[in-house]
Amino acid sequence: MEHYETIIVGTGPAGLAAAFEILRRRPGSPLLLLDKNEFSSGGLRNDCKMNFSWPIGFPEHCWDKATAEAYLGRVEAFLEPKILEKRNLERYELRAQKLGVDLLRVRQAHLGTDGGLELIKTLVAELKSLGAVVCLGERAKALRHEDSVLVTDLKELGYGNLIVAPGRGGFSFLQELMATAGVDFVDNIVDVGVRIETREEHYPIVADYYDPKFLFPKKTRTFCTNSRAAHVVQERYESPEGGTWYSVNGHAWSASRPSNGLVNFAMLKTVTLTEPLASGQAYARMLGLQASLLGGGAPIMQRVGDFRMGKRSTRAGFSGDLYDFEPTLASATPGDIGLLAPAKLLRALWNGMKLLDTIVPGLLHPSTIMYYPEIKMYANRPLFKGEGFQALPHLYLVGDGAGTSRGITAAWASGLRAADAILG
Ligand SMILES: Cc1cc2nc3c(=O)[nH]c(=O)nc-3n(C[C@H](O)[C@H](O)[C@H](O)COP(=O)(O)OP(=O)(O)OC[C@H]3O[C@@H](n4cnc5c(N)ncnc54)[C@H](O)[C@@H]3O)c2cc1C
Repeated sequence: MEHYETIIVGTGPAGLAAAFEILRRRPGSPLLLLDKNEFSSGGLRNDCKMNFSWPIGFPEHCWDKATAEAYLGRVEAFLEPKILEKRNLERYELRAQKLGVDLLRVRQAHLGTDGGLELIKTLVAELKSLGAVVCLGERAKALRHEDSVLVTDLKELGYGNLIVAPGRGGFSFLQELMATAGVDFVDNIVDVGVRIETREEHYPIVADYYDPKFLFPKKTRTFCTNSRAAHVVQERYESPEGGTWYSVNGHAWSASRPSNGLVNFAMLKTVTLTEPLASGQAYARMLGLQASLLGGGAPIMQRVGDFRMGKRSTRAGFSGDLYDFEPTLASATPGDIGLLAPAKLLRALWNGMKLLDTIVPGLLHPSTIMYYPEIKMYANRPLFKGEGFQALPHLYLVGDGAGTSRGITAAWASGLRAADAILG
């Protein structure tokens, strides 16, 4: 059986960061990075906006400001991002303040989906030159932690330390792993909302601030803004009870691509459940399945003009006159979000959109599209026993899947923190 001092599951930012740190500080240490995808570096492939300000991306149950900022400094020193300039924000800040809304000034960089792919190539080549074994297209399937053995779909591997960073997409693997290895966990929150798509002229703030972070009342916020060459996409999920559902998301190409004049971003509300149902995931899945049922196996889209009048959007009435741009996620089904999203959720989202339209007038133009659902699910939250997100001796669970991050830079910081703990 092959044996490595460190095995890392997942080549996303959390996994990469841990690998770099270990190999730089312990050159020659046998290290294997494993990813189920043939070509991966996880979420670095998606848009690659990077936020370098607390608390963006840092869950507060496992980070404090000082720790996060110290790690962010190291992330920035390594990635050397080109921080985007922000301009003319005073009038938006003033309006937001009057409405009890916060506009966070976040240090940001944006590579775009194409720029992210370039970064991945450079990082993976560098890692290999440091001696890492990078195994793509191999899936971690199970763990015999008492024997320090990881079982993949191809073989068994022995490890000294195991870092598991499978991202949000790997949450069911992580869930199973926690159950079999005996890691205690508590349930996690879920973020549910809509993705908004409109013309840039209806949301002009993006010319001055690439990904504006607004925090509204009722745990509602803007998230992941994309513009200039921006598209809405869908992600496919399987439910363990059977059935397929979709969450929407968004990305953009780098500034070198021609602009399509559109912008998209998510308006999300955080939901925390306690009893009798404490599973945010089960709740989110039901919402996703319900949307897929009414959408005929696709997400729903509705023009704001139709939503305001309380009527569904239809394919025939979806374009023309005021509805003057084509949706970038053309496969979404025109429909009625009011039939799908629970009232309390929809009220909070619509309230956030109205406040935003007062701060950046134009957003609620009749042509603006709302896509539903956008769901951010996280694995149950491990109860960490030691430094660096150690769940059991020699086992570290990090990144978005384990709930230690909600974005690229915080995932990178999480990987660094696990490496620090391993390196002592
Ligand atoms: C469309 C989209 C756009 C996004 N845009 C941004 C953005 O602009 N800025 C931002 O900060 N964040 C963005 N995010 C979120 C960001 O991608 C994540 O926060 C970040 O990538 C999390 O890093 P991670 O290392 O925890 O996991 P990931 O990056 O998800 O990486 C996990 C890796 O583990 C692999 N894996 C999973 N299970 C297994 C298994 N069983 N065996 C082997 N390998 C496995 C996966 O294939 C994947 O490569 C976006 C996400 C999406 C989906």
